[in-house]
Amino acid sequence: MGHKEIWQNVLTFLERDLSKGVIATFFGAAELADLDNGQALILCPNRLALEQLRTRYRSQLAEAFRAVGGGECQFSFEIKPLENHRAPDLGPIFRNTPNSGLAPAYNFESFVIGLSNQLAASVAQAVTEQPGALHNPLFIYSGVGLGKTHLLHAVGNSVLEKAPNSRIIYASAERFTTEFIRSIQSQQTAASFRRKFRGVDVLLIDDVQFFASRTASQEEFFNTFNELFLAGKQVVLAADRHPAEFKNIEQRLVSRFAGGMITDIQEPDLDMRLQILRRKAAAQQAEVSEGVLLALAQQLEGSIRQLEGALHQLLAIARAQQTAPTEELLNTVIKTAPPAKPFVTPSDIIGEVCQAYRITAEQLCSSQRSREIVLPRQVAAHLLRQISKASLNQIGELLGGKDHSTILYGLGKIEKQLAADEILKNQVESIRGEILGKNR
Ligand code: ADP
Ligand code: MG
Repeated sequence: MGHKEIWQNVLTFLERDLSKGVIATFFGAAELADLDNGQALILCPNRLALEQLRTRYRSQLAEAFRAVGGGECQFSFEIKPLENHRAPDLGPIFRNTPNSGLAPAYNFESFVIGLSNQLAASVAQAVTEQPGALHNPLFIYSGVGLGKTHLLHAVGNSVLEKAPNSRIIYASAERFTTEFIRSIQSQQTAASFRRKFRGVDVLLIDDVQFFASRTASQEEFFNTFNELFLAGKQVVLAADRHPAEFKNIEQRLVSRFAGGMITDIQEPDLDMRLQILRRKAAAQQAEVSEGVLLALAQQLEGSIRQLEGALHQLLAIARAQQTAPTEELLNTVIKTAPPAKPFVTPSDIIGEVCQAYRITAEQLCSSQRSREIVLPRQVAAHLLRQISKASLNQIGELLGGKDHSTILYGLGKIEKQLAADEILKNQVESIRGEILGKNR
């Protein structure tokens, strides 16, 4: 295995218990520069990522290296030297440029269709027959790892196959935003941004929930959308929730989304999980017995990404140990995997928030109103709500007997801040990762 491949396997392993946000923020742009005699050198894109990897995520990193067959490692961390800093790949992705971003592997042929996704898949396919004509916009939503991104790429790839000159852009809302913000530095770049996004035949926007509230980029997206829509161009959107549940997206944009076709993807049933595993094993030319695939499909429910990750890990370990991927080996893999639904108690959440902000639980639950205490308290309320699904009254109780209206007010505030403040969002994501990672 080359360094790249090892690092990729490490990231796949980490996906099992760290959030996508944490991985993208701290691990994504890092690389494994050297691995020799158990000495691993990791190059980080910046100081923040370096500090996080060195302290907060070190044990997880070590575990991941062991799991992918890298053995027991000592880590050293450095910031990437500047000449190594490749310009971040922020350009939208035209397939007919060398910088092709439509992943060719994400196509309809490799997309297994079952009960849970058949509507979404058939509507997506219909879109490729006559882009702009039938379901416009098409809006696909689901929990993580269930195939939205795969479907968006499949639409793009399939349209290109039918009409190779089509102009297609796949971009996440985050990427649209970053690019937009860069573009407004000069009139020229602003104009070229517009030309690019408004000149497409098919626009594929992923993770729409990441548009931040009341920002110029959301406004820009609204205008882009309208122009494309009026010109009869196809727009396909994906998000982690139904448009009606967006809090940070303007009503007028939400009603545009609802004007086309909205469809969801559910979690796959056992049969479909098994079929997916067969496909993925075959794609890797790996021979895995039906019994092993079944055992894997039975034990991991929910996210297809997780399922895929476990298979990957099994194959990586088998390769490293030069043995067959047997059921015995699978059991060791699954033992290290988190249970499908980790059990987290409210005090785990409160404990982790206190640790992250270096305050005591007493302070958190007191009636102190200073910002150093109020922010952690609101973060705790937010996470109690999200992870434990606690009611307002329960949260009030847990946080020292506060009124439910106080909690409601606090939740509103923190959600607004999270939508507007990227750094805070990352902090909260990493606290969440820590909470979920500990309770395996
Ligand atoms: P989402 O965008 O919903 O989080 P992804 O599209 O990234 O999910 O899917 C996660 C992984 O699972 C990808 O590797 C994808 O190829 C795979 N996957 C998801 N759904 C299917 C499916 N129906 N058939 C085959 N692979 C799938
Ligand atoms: Mg996705």
